[in-house]
Amino acid sequence: MIWYPYEQMKTMKPPYKIIDAQGIYLYTEDKKLIDSISSWWSVIHGYKNKELNDAIKEQLDMFAHVMLGGLTHDPAQALAEKLKSWLPCDLDYCFFSDSGSVAVEVAIKMALQYYVNKGEFNRTKVLALEHSYHGDTFRTMEIGDDVDYHFVLQAYGKSDKVIHIPTDMDSLEKAFEQYHDCLNCFIVEPLLQGAGGMRMYDISFLQRARKLCDQYEVLLIFDEVATGFGRTGHRFVADVVLPDILVLGKALTGGYIGHAVTVANKKVYKRFLSDNQSHALMHGPTFMANPLACSVSLKAIELFEKNDYMSKISKIEEITRREMCGFTDERIKDIRIMGGCICVEVYNADDLKGYQEFAYNRGVFSRPFLNYMYAMVPYIIEEAELVQVLDTMKAWFLR
Ligand SMILES: *Cc1c(COP(=O)(O)O)cnc(C)c1O
Repeated sequence: MIWYPYEQMKTMKPPYKIIDAQGIYLYTEDKKLIDSISSWWSVIHGYKNKELNDAIKEQLDMFAHVMLGGLTHDPAQALAEKLKSWLPCDLDYCFFSDSGSVAVEVAIKMALQYYVNKGEFNRTKVLALEHSYHGDTFRTMEIGDDVDYHFVLQAYGKSDKVIHIPTDMDSLEKAFEQYHDCLNCFIVEPLLQGAGGMRMYDISFLQRARKLCDQYEVLLIFDEVATGFGRTGHRFVADVVLPDILVLGKALTGGYIGHAVTVANKKVYKRFLSDNQSHALMHGPTFMANPLACSVSLKAIELFEKNDYMSKISKIEEITRREMCGFTDERIKDIRIMGGCICVEVYNADDLKGYQEFAYNRGVFSRPFLNYMYAMVPYIIEEAELVQVLDTMKAWFLR
């Protein structure tokens, strides 16, 4: 039987069974649902996109997979070249992996080894933000600050290699003053903390972080697994503030197949070039640079550019702000909107109990968690459909 994610299997209600998916819609036996969360924020082009399907089919007829150890292939090379030219500045060096969590692990390993290769063995600590989420593998779980993983703290105690700070300037300054000579990196989900509660913060925080990282020679890592490809209203937050290492996943393949990439700048990459074999990056997921995943990623980027997704996203933000303008309820603590993301935070998590079924009956698939009701729609959504999603959110409070 299936062991479902993040569920208490004893009390879990049966999941909805999907039998077809097309555009922004999921189909169950008896319902047509707008997927208001884009299958965990990844299916930005919608389901069964003809061009994405064709890209995979074409590659499938050549070969589905070969390993990247000692071999290479056109899809991987083309994707690396595309990312090199598409990503800002000298974020040019692409290390592929099979999931966002693994790509974050790679970034963390890179940052540590960067200093080891340099002969600095005291830079063993990672600076991270409270309420951050960086994945489900063990190290990313420790670096994140997700309440779901606080059982680890109970069992192990807090890792003394990770320092968590709140997202404010004072704490940032103080952390750098106090820990700078033992930090190898500062890792953040830039501007928008997703799984930690759709928390949004100002770009000035990242600008200050960049300056401090420069001043103290600490590497800045942007985990844009969720924020990349336009979700914040920026193509990448890295377009505005430049990190040393950038992690992309989720929407990279248009949500078609699990794939991710850790992109390093020249400074980081060069630190691994050496006559000393032990300075090499020792990592290699079996399915890294899977040809089907690379082919569909390339096509997904092409669609993103060709169809001017950035203006679609600003339209989504504009409609969302218009529709939510002035909406309040005594149960609502905060309504946050940024780019293609809206979050309604309630004071009491119980006030969202039953919302999923309510939305289902109105033709919207939603998956609120803790105190957060949110939408991250596919970018191909039409105005009337987006309004339907937002009306459903509002209607819950107007019952
Ligand atoms: C989803 C997510 C991850 C983990 O990606 P997986 O592909 O699920 O392993 C890491 N970081 C952020 C910010 C995410 O949203």
